[in-house]
Formats: sequence, C-alpha cells, structure tokens
Amino acid sequence: MFNLILFGPPGSGKGTQSERLISKYGLKHLSTGDILRAEIAAQTPLGLAAKELMDNGQLVPDEVVIGMINSALDSNPQAGGFLFDGFPRTVAQAEALDKLLAQKGTSIAVVLALQVDEEELVKRLMNRGLTSGRTDDTDENKIRVRFGEYQKKTMPVAEHYKNLDKLVEIKGEGDIDDIFQALSREIDLRNQDRA
Ligand code: AMP
Repeated sequence: MFNLILFGPPGSGKGTQSERLISKYGLKHLSTGDILRAEIAAQTPLGLAAKELMDNGQLVPDEVVIGMINSALDSNPQAGGFLFDGFPRTVAQAEALDKLLAQKGTSIAVVLALQVDEEELVKRLMNRGLTSGRTDDTDENKIRVRFGEYQKKTMPVAEHYKNLDKLVEIKGEGDIDDIFQALSREIDLRNQDRA
C-alpha cells in the first residue's frame, strides 16, 4: 500500500494535482472538504452542523473528520493506497491518522507540501470563487480566516511529519505540468524503495 498526504494552504493546487496523481498511481482520493460538501448537499445532520463553520472559514471539529476518514478507510479495503487531500489539518488529526493506518499495517509514505505565496493564494481563491460556487471562496475576509486557521492549527502538522522525516516541500507556483512532474518524481523515488 502506498499512502501519501498532499499538503498545503487553501488554493495551493491540492485538488488539481490530486486528480492527476490518483489517475497516474491508482490511488483512492480522500478529500475531507469534498466529503463535507457532499454531506451538505445531501443535507445530512453532519453536513448541516459543518456548514456554518465551513462558510466562516473555520475548521470542523477533529472527531467529525477523523470519523469520516475512519469510515472511508473501512469502506475501501481493496484500495492500493490513499491520497489524503485537506486532511490532516491538525496535529490531533495527524496522530489519529497515523494510528488508524498502523492498525491496518500500513503508514504514510510521504507528505508532499505545496509552497505558494499568500497573495497568489488569495488571487487564486477569489478567481475560483467566480466559478466554483463555493461561498468560502468569495469573501476575502473569510479567506483570511482560513489562512489564520492554517497558520495556527495546520502548519504544526508539517512539523509533525518533518520530525518523522516524511516531509518534502515542492514549489506550487508555475506550470501545472511542471509541478505534477516534481510531485511524481518524489512518489517514484519512494515507490521504488518499496518495490
Ligand atoms: P477544503 O475543500 O479542503 O478547502 O475544505 C473546505 C472547508 O472544509 C475548510 O475550510 C474546513 O471548514 C472544512 N474542512 C475540510 N477538511 C477539514 C479537516 N481535515 N479538518 C477540519 N475541517 C476541515
């Protein structure tokens, strides 16, 4: 099994690169943001509870997203590996993920962290808001709240995986194909290690 985390701030290109990586490497894509938006669309109690926090740019409680990931892992027993996108976003989530994977006899192979300048991120998110229909992308104040959450709660996740020697930083600005090649190179290095 090959599991990786695509890490980076909102607007760093995780969604775009995830789509390409899952199709190249046959991984199962687990995006907590996508799962939460599907819950909102289906108007489930979980979705209704999460909606206000998401609209404000705040994080949903750890136990909610950890529960979602736990059931997604259980419902994909035949997956060759998972690509985690937008998760883990707190150290508690990272520790829970490490434990869940260990219980299944596997682990995170690598954390690929996309690096993008903050002003470029705001530009990308405002642009995405024009077409995505995502209410959290249209208001610059809410975008800044998401960055605040990222700095305070999510950046320590990079430190967690750096201490485990699993963090690799990749420049997330420039040509989409070049970024994809850089990500693929890091995956290929580690896939071979396992072969
Ligand atoms: P994303 O699509 O990854 O940008 O996530 C959109 C919103 O969903 C975030 O701003 C949070 O409100 C919520 N969310 C997604 N993933 C998580 C997570 N792992 N932990 C807490 N909240 C999350």
